[in-house]
Amino acid sequence: MIQVVKYHHIYEQLLTITAKENVMVDEQLRNHTYTKLGGKADLFVTPASIEEVQQIVKLANKEEVPFTLLGNGSNLIVRDGGIRGIVMSPKRFTTIKREGDSIIAESGARIIDASRKALEEELSGLEFACGIPGTVGGALYMNAGAYGGEVKDCLHYTVVVTKEGELLTLKAEDLDLDYRTSNIPDKGYIVLEARFDLKPGKYDEIKAIMDDLTYKRESKQPLEYPSCGSVFKRPPGYFAGKLIQDSELQGKGVGGAEVSTKHAGFIVNKDNATATDYIAVIEMVQKTVKDKFGVELEREVRILGED
Ligand SMILES: Cc1cc2nc3c(=O)[nH]c(=O)nc-3n(C[C@H](O)[C@H](O)[C@H](O)COP(=O)(O)OP(=O)(O)OC[C@H]3O[C@@H](n4cnc5c(N)ncnc54)[C@H](O)[C@@H]3O)c2cc1C
Repeated sequence: MIQVVKYHHIYEQLLTITAKENVMVDEQLRNHTYTKLGGKADLFVTPASIEEVQQIVKLANKEEVPFTLLGNGSNLIVRDGGIRGIVMSPKRFTTIKREGDSIIAESGARIIDASRKALEEELSGLEFACGIPGTVGGALYMNAGAYGGEVKDCLHYTVVVTKEGELLTLKAEDLDLDYRTSNIPDKGYIVLEARFDLKPGKYDEIKAIMDDLTYKRESKQPLEYPSCGSVFKRPPGYFAGKLIQDSELQGKGVGGAEVSTKHAGFIVNKDNATATDYIAVIEMVQKTVKDKFGVELEREVRILGED
């Protein structure tokens, strides 16, 4: 409540930029994250146009208010104290269309839906993304990939808003896309749109690849529990899941969070876990693997907010 009073003047200014229903006060972020945990956002904003995004960024700069961007919340953990200031979600930007042999998707669209649209249009190249539960923006941010494919393979260009609020079109090469990284965090870009260049294919062949990947995913991943997917990056020369399995950590946990018994690379919210539980399990896994094998596990997931 103190925070709401603190940011009341920002709330008032946001209402001059976007409609009232696009600004939520004290919004529970567990409703917007895959792990289903974490505290509240002081101001949760879902702008309806590019101009609104630009104006909100400029407002945050002018008023020196903390600003955080959230996609589908499938690669992050929000701490139990929540996130101060403005949290922006591009959830109203969901258009996906075909242009030539490309799919153009707005950043709040799910990459799964971009992959499905490519299938409908008989375009091949986005099959790898058929089970990645993030948005297009989140997928660019970390060069999401699976089963041998990644965003880098087919991204042509992206439209972003800079941290100064300017609109820019960037080529894929400008993003320094690499294994689960890009320069988006350093540059502070807000992705608004992406164009994926694909190749004409046959519906049945594209569908067969997607069905196979879905089968692999469903049989190996604990999709029945909230999680943020693979918690750690693949350390050079090892597999994170194998190291965790060999450390006999599966089924071990803190509070309601535990290392999945189905896939050692996942930590699941099994029973009303808090973010504190979840982060404690991450740290336990990192320490145990380091002690046992001398390997540092680097987190793939981001941790945001306050304790
Ligand atoms: C069950 C499960 C399976 C998964 N499988 C895979 C997999 O196979 N491969 C894989 O790569 N990942 C996988 N993930 C992780 C996750 O889905 C991806 O990392 C996805 O790209 C994250 O997108 P998001 O919209 O959820 O981003 P969020 O988790 O909301 O955000 C992650 C980061 O991206 C930033 N971000 C979000 N939107 C934008 C934007 N528009 N502009 C700029 N920055 C933005 C956020 O600020 C944040 O720092 C999986 C997750 C789960 C839960």
